Amino acid sequence: MILGEGPVGTQPVPSGPFVHRADLRPDSRGRAAHVAWTSVDAGSLALHILGTDDPSGRRAVERSRAAVEGAMGVARGSTFYLDQVHSADVVTADGIGWGGAEGPVADASVSPDGEQPLAVLVADCLPILLVDGLTGATAAAHAGRRGLLDGVLENTVDALEALRPAGARGTFGMKAWIGPGACGRCYEVPEEMRAEAAARIPELHSTTSWGTPALNLPAGAQAVLRSRGVAVERIDVCTLEDERVFSHRRDPGRGRFAGLVWTTGAGTDERG
Ligand SMILES: [Zn+2]
Repeated sequence: MILGEGPVGTQPVPSGPFVHRADLRPDSRGRAAHVAWTSVDAGSLALHILGTDDPSGRRAVERSRAAVEGAMGVARGSTFYLDQVHSADVVTADGIGWGGAEGPVADASVSPDGEQPLAVLVADCLPILLVDGLTGATAAAHAGRRGLLDGVLENTVDALEALRPAGARGTFGMKAWIGPGACGRCYEVPEEMRAEAAARIPELHSTTSWGTPALNLPAGAQAVLRSRGVAVERIDVCTLEDERVFSHRRDPGRGRFAGLVWTTGAGTDERG
């Protein structure tokens, strides 16, 4: 992937399965990385908020996941989903997508060659996608308040850096996209929680538009990533203000949308 020349297209998508999508320029071998975030039109993609005795709900989620994979141009069932628990744990995608296994317990995943599509599910927390232009590795991280404070982003960057050859350590050529989440004007928290969070990451400190203590998760995530030398692009869509995406605070239990990173082109199974 050639990151320096910028993505081919980063325009917001008005409707359809994605609220935003960016397609990177293909590299010399014709491989191109893509990042995207699904919309409410794509349906909820989470199995965990369904009851275990809800087979029709499960089938609906599976249909929605398959339709999104059709829009991505990847094989049905190939996307690597996680069982997210607000941890700072990172796992390596094992080649088995949701069609073959329940996701492992973790909050970030890495595909060392970028070949396996990766997903994180959110509804106010941040869906952060990363591409290492040097190695072609990709990563997806679920970063809420707890994950940010516990270092999920640092751990994800470390995992990508560890895949580089010994002579090319560092993060030059690594890029992260911070997807839709609760913004600093909306994400109200108790004063004590804001103080604790800002003591660790000062950029988290915020105030709601109505004057009460808040956290600015996108600003906090950006600060962490930039401190590690990672280039950052923010998709400034607030889940609490924009009904094109799911929000747990605005509409609890209704659904989760996904942040997705995948590769198409030479050597991959592109259908679309
Ligand atoms: Zn907002």
